[in-house]
Amino acid sequence: MSKAQVLQKENEMMDNAFEELLKDYLNSHHSKKTDIIRKAYQFAKTAHAGVRRRSGEPYIIHPIAVAHIACKDIGLGSTSICAALLHDVVEDTDYTVDDIKDLFGEKVAEIVKGLTKISGGVFGEQASAQAENFRKLIITMSEDIRVVLIKIADRLHNMRTLDSQPVAKQYKIAGETEYIYAPLAHRLGLFSIKTELEDLSFKYNFPEKYENISKRLEAEREKRMEVYDKFSLPIMNKLNSYGYEFVMKERIKSAFSIWKKMEAKQIPFEEVYDILGARIVFKPHPGADEKIECLKIYNLITSIYTLHPGRTRDWLNTPKANGYEALHVTVMGPDGQWIEVQIRSQRMDEIAEKGLAAHWNYKKDYSLSESKIEEWLSTVNELLKNPDSNAMHFLDTFKLTLYDAEVFVFTPKGEMKTLPSGSTALDFAFDIHSDIGMHCIGAKVNNKLVPLSYVLQSGDQVEILVAKQQTPQPEWINYVTTVKAKEKLTTIFKQSSKLFRKKGEEILRDALEALGYVVKKDFNNETIKLLLDHFKLDSLDDVLIKIGKEEISLTDIPEFVKHKSRKLTIKSLTPSFLMGKSKKKETIDNKNYSIAPCCKPIPGDDIIGFKTEDGVIIHKRDCPEAVKLKSQYGPKIVEAKWEQTKEQVYSAGIEIEGIDRKHILMDIVKIISEDLNANIQKLTVKTFDGIFNAKINVYVRHVNDIKKICTEALKINGIERATRINEHDI
Ligand code: MN
Repeated sequence: MSKAQVLQKENEMMDNAFEELLKDYLNSHHSKKTDIIRKAYQFAKTAHAGVRRRSGEPYIIHPIAVAHIACKDIGLGSTSICAALLHDVVEDTDYTVDDIKDLFGEKVAEIVKGLTKISGGVFGEQASAQAENFRKLIITMSEDIRVVLIKIADRLHNMRTLDSQPVAKQYKIAGETEYIYAPLAHRLGLFSIKTELEDLSFKYNFPEKYENISKRLEAEREKRMEVYDKFSLPIMNKLNSYGYEFVMKERIKSAFSIWKKMEAKQIPFEEVYDILGARIVFKPHPGADEKIECLKIYNLITSIYTLHPGRTRDWLNTPKANGYEALHVTVMGPDGQWIEVQIRSQRMDEIAEKGLAAHWNYKKDYSLSESKIEEWLSTVNELLKNPDSNAMHFLDTFKLTLYDAEVFVFTPKGEMKTLPSGSTALDFAFDIHSDIGMHCIGAKVNNKLVPLSYVLQSGDQVEILVAKQQTPQPEWINYVTTVKAKEKLTTIFKQSSKLFRKKGEEILRDALEALGYVVKKDFNNETIKLLLDHFKLDSLDDVLIKIGKEEISLTDIPEFVKHKSRKLTIKSLTPSFLMGKSKKKETIDNKNYSIAPCCKPIPGDDIIGFKTEDGVIIHKRDCPEAVKLKSQYGPKIVEAKWEQTKEQVYSAGIEIEGIDRKHILMDIVKIISEDLNANIQKLTVKTFDGIFNAKINVYVRHVNDIKKICTEALKINGIERATRINEHDI
């Protein structure tokens, strides 16, 4: 083909992609403003002409795809479609927001402006810069929610085409997606987009694990469909005989959800029992109440199959905070496995799939769900107003607002309050009023006295007890989970902590200098790590504050220094690193790395490195801290792999539990130190009510050594559980 022919072909491809978008738009219930959409397409196509994406495709394919997602999957109208088509024009070409305003009007220009503001420097060098960008996104969101919806569409398409990016960037983008965009999509009720974002980030974060689960799913597909057919037929017959207009479909758990479950419960793939589910979407009979129709269908199903009594979920009367409404029922399938069936009307289904935008379409009749989203937006606005909150802090707190599981509790007067699940009695006190929270001395739940840390259950009636002389206690920060209570307490404590921290730092410096150490302006990471290990605390601030308050003394500082030199000889290194763009191995000084204290990876673990001034820090790839770092410190990510060069031991933790009996400890020690020839570094044993629990630190060479120890331990008479744990938990 000649060059002209190729270009001609490409041109057709672009136009076809656009026509597909237009077709879906015309099928939606929006008014048919195709002229302006065509105009936006032509404009963007000309503006991006000649530019290609990394994948080699013409650039315009990306905005078309983003507009298509905004239209079809989110249900947005012409204004958003135009903005999506134009979303990269201001950023990547010479056109300005004013040009867009002249051609497409104020609204489109405002949205494009919002999207431009946040895309600039997303890959900035500093974590705080990236977090700051995110805060900007949320500010624009509270001005016009469509900005964030289009940003999510943009992210989804970037994730779908992530293959063409270099590996380090894949980690960064996938990390950011898992950390913030998927939860955000969930919070906005975009269920299918959230699922796809999670699956895609899983695919890039853990390629082998993703591949593995996908293959298993594919291999068992036929068998599963047989089960499904057998299961669904009697239900469909019954619904037909009652004159229901409905669609029933199978539901397969996503690879990401399966993996999460395997990790959380430490079970193999075969033991994930709820991979197969079903969904019924029905059209209510004319004039019938949809909720009652859901219950009728529920009755028809449970007249065929046995109900699992504990697993019915009713989101009809109290929809989820993201607006989700449905009735979920779990019944025993024909082959003896539990199968969950979701029952939804067509309206509920559209809300479940398209989220917020669908709420607007139904706005007139159903304001409850929408008002819940508005409640959330007002919480977010409160956060934005906090003058003390820096961007990083904002990002962390904002994330807390993204979770939507809830409990419903009552005041003594019978007024219902909704709180995030996991909320405590103290959260409840702060929710009523900060003054009540600050002077809270206890609570009565259902007339019984409970501690402040009591975790509320739906249906609890809660009465808060206060005393004027009470003031907030430092440990309270551990008792609260809600944004409101955390923010309030943090502000109060910050003031007093600052003084103690300063004092503590002075004391520590003096002590170190007295021993002949030169202490630079800032403590380096190595020193910090040693201090944290030594005092068994989580942050340098904690250490300094405790020293300042004289809660810990420095009499053992000479021992700490000795300890330091011992530690340094034990930990030498074997990971190798790959840097950024080139696939070429970059030599990073082998001695210049350290193992992250939060997750302590050992050979065999999937790992990732973060470059810092003090060398590379190695985390487990699924360490929560690493997930967060990935999304905030993208450019500092280093691909890391274990290299089998020298014999090297690493310390790791194992927890073993079982029924207590004579000699059980001896049996365990024997398999570890004699049979497997591993050295035990530390051992703590607890027994209570006939249960035996041992936590052991051992030196191993590889993850497989731990697996071996666990397998062997499970063979010991009486042992019920043997798992790896984080060593520093001990
Ligand atoms: Mn884009």
